[in-house]
Amino acid sequence: MLDIKGVNCHYGRIQVLHGIDLAIGEGELVALVGANGAGKTTLLRTLSGLEPASGGSIALDGRDITRHSSDKRVRLGIVQVPEGRQVFAPMSVEDNLIIGGYTRSEAEREQTLEEVYAMFPVLEERRHTAAGTLSGGQQQMLVISRALMARPRLLLLDEPSMGLSPLLVDEVFATISKLRDGGTTIFLVEQNAYMALAIADRGYVLEAGRVTLADEGRALLVNEKVKEAYLGI
Ligand code: ATP
Repeated sequence: MLDIKGVNCHYGRIQVLHGIDLAIGEGELVALVGANGAGKTTLLRTLSGLEPASGGSIALDGRDITRHSSDKRVRLGIVQVPEGRQVFAPMSVEDNLIIGGYTRSEAEREQTLEEVYAMFPVLEERRHTAAGTLSGGQQQMLVISRALMARPRLLLLDEPSMGLSPLLVDEVFATISKLRDGGTTIFLVEQNAYMALAIADRGYVLEAGRVTLADEGRALLVNEKVKEAYLGI
């Protein structure tokens, strides 16, 4: 579905991504793991069009989208959930969701809203509550669901487990598995390498802006280099 070839990204004169090659197939859950500052967020922002690639190409279904605006990419189905659970705190859960469907007709929005509520009943229970009063795990569920309202073909998740207690981390990873099982294609960026690789079909390791390893999620979990550098075992 998504084909990334030789992608570079610069902040001013500083090159942060160096010739990234990566592919995401329809229906796959692909994880990207790496240390702080490796360039994971930058890669996501380059894919969603928030940072321009300074080299290489990005293709969706064989069609070049390297120069497309982020808005156009959302309309083509590439939707990013940024780091940090950014809900519109004073607004209701339901209004947060409705905003996520801004590219779609009212009838389509209503239908997806029902699907989201069927998948995450707790959001329906709290639909009229201010989003800022939800727990951290529920807020993460809400921002992911807000992205689902745009009917993404490819969902880009940036550190969804960051700052959550272990119990809520489990809840968030269960949410991600559920989405994948429902057929959503997912690119998951995580510092929690163990949990991410455990649920991923395939994974990539990013080090100082370069992909240094690529394999099946399970194979990376038992890779000696990954175990030592990212799993602390
Ligand atoms: P983290 O897990 O801490 O978010 P990351 O792997 O996502 O790390 P990035 O946030 O992509 O890494 O950062 C990669 C490098 O680019 C870092 O050295 C960072 O300091 C630098 N960087 C990030 N954003 C900018 C920016 N807007 N301007 C200049 N440098 C930046």
